[in-house]
Amino acid sequence: MGVIETSRGRGDTGDWTDRACPIHNVAVTDLSTAAALRTLDLLPDPVLLVRFSEAEGPQIVYGNEAAGEHFRLAIPGVAVGAALRQPVLLESVENALETGAPAEVAFESIGVQPRYWRAFIRPLGPAELVLVLRDETDARRTERMRADFLANASHELRTPLASLAGFVETLRTHAKDDAPAREKFLGIMAEQTGRMTRLINDLLSLSRIELNEHIAPSGAVDLVQVLQDVADGIRPLLAERGISIAIAADGPAVVVGDRDQLVQVVQNLVDNAVKYSPTGASVGVAFQRAENLEAARAPSRSGGVTLSLLTPDAADQAYQVIRVADVGRGIARQHLPRLSERFYRVEGQSGGGTGLGLAIVKHVINRHRGGLIVESEEGAGATFTAFLPAATVT
Ligand code: ADP
Repeated sequence: MGVIETSRGRGDTGDWTDRACPIHNVAVTDLSTAAALRTLDLLPDPVLLVRFSEAEGPQIVYGNEAAGEHFRLAIPGVAVGAALRQPVLLESVENALETGAPAEVAFESIGVQPRYWRAFIRPLGPAELVLVLRDETDARRTERMRADFLANASHELRTPLASLAGFVETLRTHAKDDAPAREKFLGIMAEQTGRMTRLINDLLSLSRIELNEHIAPSGAVDLVQVLQDVADGIRPLLAERGISIAIAADGPAVVVGDRDQLVQVVQNLVDNAVKYSPTGASVGVAFQRAENLEAARAPSRSGGVTLSLLTPDAADQAYQVIRVADVGRGIARQHLPRLSERFYRVEGQSGGGTGLGLAIVKHVINRHRGGLIVESEEGAGATFTAFLPAATVT
């Protein structure tokens, strides 16, 4: 690479050798070949220089360090076809060598985990071009998640909305003069609006939590007190279902946290335990201090399946552990890994839930650098264990 030439826009190739580089405003001749090569090696994206000769055909004559790692070939002298396996990419390179026109092409690399790439092809001169590869897998994944999320949220709202529209129509026509039917339908409509309200509230909570997920919380919160407040709030529901909450705590369980968010965690876990418990049962909530991660993760049930839904990095940190145990039907093994996904509900068992409760729990705990474990014994109950960094006692 004696002379550095580059394309300045589509189809416009130029030579900066004796002119000022527009980016750094220095004469390009000041940039030694060694410095230019070093610069290319510092780039995270694979960069290749491809040249066509009658004798060898299209060959890779240079690759930066990222290209060496990516292709795992002794690069200078490799035929283009040996390195670039995707027909669409190979075709674009050959085409650009022939026509001298720049091109961009998106392609997928094959492997256990497919990755998505975009190649930028920029001709340098006749029969020579630069190829830059950019890994767009993460961006594609995020885009996909956002699209799925929107589709799911719209679907979840559309179902109760369609049901409401149907009942409005019935009330206007067939049930117009039928008082008992009207009462019944209005009851169902109230239920559906309640469902939509819950869904929107959960969606708003989730987006608020995500917005500040990277900011560590700083307050001191006693989880035992939080539980007492949550239990007071659902007293009428507990009375209606004949369910009691048995609390086991030695004293306060103070963690570093955001109180409102931790109320949501405890509320969602206790709500689920109550919702999936048989009438008249008891829900157990136990608090315990663990001196390190291993102790916090110790199993609490003797049988069943255990799965970690979230594991923090800090192994030597002291944690406050809260375990919410019920004697309901438990959760079948195959559902466990997906429990904290947004909108995931075990079919036919959700009891009007939004499927967002555990997603909220997981995001809040993640912001607090804590962990979440589920243990389930089918037919005998489930235990959700959340643990959060203990506040240092001063
Ligand atoms: P939902 O609002 O539907 O309860 P969650 O995210 O809180 O949503 O829970 C997801 C699913 O996990 C629920 O639909 C339910 O099937 C299952 N689940 C959660 N907690 C329990 C529990 N304690 N016992 C049995 N199943 C549970």
